[in-house]
Amino acid sequence: MNFATGFCRLVSAIRPFGGLRHPRGISLASGIVAIASCCLVANAIGQPPNAQVVVSTRTSTVVAEASTAVSPTASAPAVAELAVAEPMDALILDGQNNHGVWPKTTIMIKKYLEQTGRYRVDIARTKYTWQGAEWFEKYPLHDGIVHEALGEPKADPDFHPEFSKYKVVISNLGYGAALWPETTQKDFEKYVAGGGGFVVLHAADNSFGDWKEFNTMIGLGGWGGRNEKSGPYVYLNQEGKEVRDNTPGNGGSHGAQHEFPIIVRDAEHPITKGMPKMWLHAQDELYDRLRGPAVNMKVLATAYAAQDKGGTGRHEPMIMTIDYGKGRVFHTPMGHGDYSMECVGFITVLLRGTDWAATGTVVHHEIPKDFPSADQSSKRPFE
Ligand SMILES: [Zn+2]
Repeated sequence: MNFATGFCRLVSAIRPFGGLRHPRGISLASGIVAIASCCLVANAIGQPPNAQVVVSTRTSTVVAEASTAVSPTASAPAVAELAVAEPMDALILDGQNNHGVWPKTTIMIKKYLEQTGRYRVDIARTKYTWQGAEWFEKYPLHDGIVHEALGEPKADPDFHPEFSKYKVVISNLGYGAALWPETTQKDFEKYVAGGGGFVVLHAADNSFGDWKEFNTMIGLGGWGGRNEKSGPYVYLNQEGKEVRDNTPGNGGSHGAQHEFPIIVRDAEHPITKGMPKMWLHAQDELYDRLRGPAVNMKVLATAYAAQDKGGTGRHEPMIMTIDYGKGRVFHTPMGHGDYSMECVGFITVLLRGTDWAATGTVVHHEIPKDFPSADQSSKRPFE
C-alpha cells in the first residue's frame, strides 16, 4: 500500500457522515475538512466528564482466576461485598491505525477495563507511530520508548511484547499497521494457540491481510488485500441462516455512519446472555462484506447493513467468537470512533468479550441500567 491510497482510506474511514465507500482520488483539501469535522464531532460529545462510567463496577461480582468458573448470580452484590482477587493482566496493542483517534480510544479501553477492578492494563505501542499524533499530548504514554510519528506506517523491528505475561491481548491497531517481525508473529501464534485471549476491535481486523494465522484467529477481516483467497463472505440471510459465500471480490466495505440495531442471535453465550434481543448501537461504521477463514467461528450478534445507508442488505456479523487452538478470540467490528466506544452497549460487549477471551467465562452478569433499548441508544461521555 502506498501512502496516497492509505490516506484516501483514512479519509473515507474517519469521515463522520460520509456515505462513500473508500473513494479514490479524494483531494488533500477535502481530506483535511473531513478530519477536522471528525474532530469537531468528537470534541462536541466528549464533554463533560461523567461519573456514570464508574457505574459498571457496581455490577461486578467476583474476579475469576484464570481457570475458575464463576457461577451467575441472581442479582449484583453490593459494592461492599465485592471480593476482588488479584487483577488479571491485559495488554493493549497500538501505534499504527488509520483511525487517528486511536491514542484516545486506547485510553478509553484501558479505563473501561480497569474500572471493573478485574484488570491491570499495559499498552504496547510500536516505536514508529502512524496517525493520531494530535492526541498524544492529551493522552500521553510514558513507556520509556522514544516514539517517532511518521507519515506512513513503518515496521518496528523491536516490537516484541511479552505476550505470555498477559491473560488477554487487545488489538487497537488498524488498517495499514506494519507487519510485526516474524519472531513476534510466531510468539503471538504460540500465545493464542496455547490458551491466550485475544480481542479484536473494529479496524484491528483490517491489519495483516497476508498473515495467514492472524486471519485464522480473527475469523473474518476486511481490506488489507483480502479477497476470495482469504475465505468466504459470512453473513446471515433474511431467515437468520448463516451464509458462507465464495463469490470473488474484495473483503470489507461500509456505508454511511449511523446508529443501528444490534440483533442478538445466540442469547445463551456468556457474552450476550441477558442482553435485550435487539439494542440500538450509537453512531458507528457498520462493516460489511467481511471475509476470512471463519474456522471455529460463532456469530453471536449481527446488524442489518441497510442498502439506503450504502450497506449490503445483509445481516452482518457484529459479535463473534473464534476458537484458535486452546485460545479464545473475541471479535467485534464495532468501535470506529470515540463516540462509538461511548455506547453503553459497546462497553458492555467489550467488557464481557474481554472477560470471555481471558477466562472462558464472563464475570459480570448484570446488564447495566443505562443499557440501550431497541429504539434508544445510550452513551457515557468520556473525557
Ligand atoms: Zn472505521
